[in-house]
Amino acid sequence: MKKDLRILFQALLLCGLLGTLFFISRRNRLVVENSGFRPIMGTLAQITAISDDPACAHRCIELALDAIEMIQQTMNDRDENSELSKLNATAFEQEVKVSPELFTVLQAAKEYSILSGGAFDVTIGPEVQLWRTMQQTGTPPTSEQIEQARFRVGYEKMILNPETQTVQFELAGMRLDLGGIAKGYAIDLAIEAMKQNGAMGGMVDIGGDIRCFGHSPTRGNNWLIGLQNPRKEKLITKLKLTDYAVATSGDYRRFIEINGKKQGHILNPATADSAEELISISIVAPTAMQADALATAVAVMGRQRGLDLIESLDGIEAFVITAKNPSELLRSSGASFYQLP
Ligand code: AMP
Ligand code: MG
Repeated sequence: MKKDLRILFQALLLCGLLGTLFFISRRNRLVVENSGFRPIMGTLAQITAISDDPACAHRCIELALDAIEMIQQTMNDRDENSELSKLNATAFEQEVKVSPELFTVLQAAKEYSILSGGAFDVTIGPEVQLWRTMQQTGTPPTSEQIEQARFRVGYEKMILNPETQTVQFELAGMRLDLGGIAKGYAIDLAIEAMKQNGAMGGMVDIGGDIRCFGHSPTRGNNWLIGLQNPRKEKLITKLKLTDYAVATSGDYRRFIEINGKKQGHILNPATADSAEELISISIVAPTAMQADALATAVAVMGRQRGLDLIESLDGIEAFVITAKNPSELLRSSGASFYQLP
């Protein structure tokens, strides 16, 4: 090696070394603030914010919580004062103008309904009400009640007008339920709030639906996320995500038992029966709303149709477990990319 080449090489090496040291010292000064578990949206939320400024990390957590609270107040169908409940009460008689947030979620919901051939359906409300009554009374609905509920379910009967941002129902007694998508949207808004307010990284977890971005506390930009085994108190696998989301649907957290039979809270809109074939469905996607809606859709579609749908979508992967073989983790073709070896 010529002398001046050697000097250049040494200078480059030194620059590289200094750069690394600078990076390490910067990372050492990063603050990791965690909200702890907060009860919200019928589950527990946890937020992590990373910043080199403690005040910024703290503010980001508060703003993220505010965003989730706002969605809870808008989209909670159990609260009769929520915007969703008022919409449910009046949208048959008249067109109802809704907030931009509610309209965004309803539009996305309709897209996922079409994409999933009606497996995902936010007009599922009347069937969910039957499930909840069965939960309270322990008695299954009659076939007549099921027929009436099924008649009132159907996303094509929810008319959305993007120009006026209004919603109207075609049938009396229709009822929207955003339980399968609102958590994901709340997570996306919370992440957006943190990004806009200067966080260098962060994670929002609402009941196991998670999105992360930027610096992680430990591993550069990789966030480590465990997927729970639906039948045992241990992890079935670990994921590493960078600026990505994962949502899990399943029968292991919310279910009732009637005559010795487990009835999960995810319903097949066509029959009003609980989806049974899959017991855990985790979807990895760029946004939490996509992951949330698709996890619920795949739960209804089952192994074959569900995985076929995921294969047809770019940048989206699935991990699923069937009731028949709870110890086998099935994956879409690109899913292993997100798994820790
Ligand atoms: P998730 O835990 O995200 O799968 O959402 C389940 C919740 O979504 C249920 O508790 C219901 O509120 C609602 N839901 C049930 N079945 C469906 C369905 N087929 N499409 C859309 N939402 C549903
Ligand atoms: Mg969902």
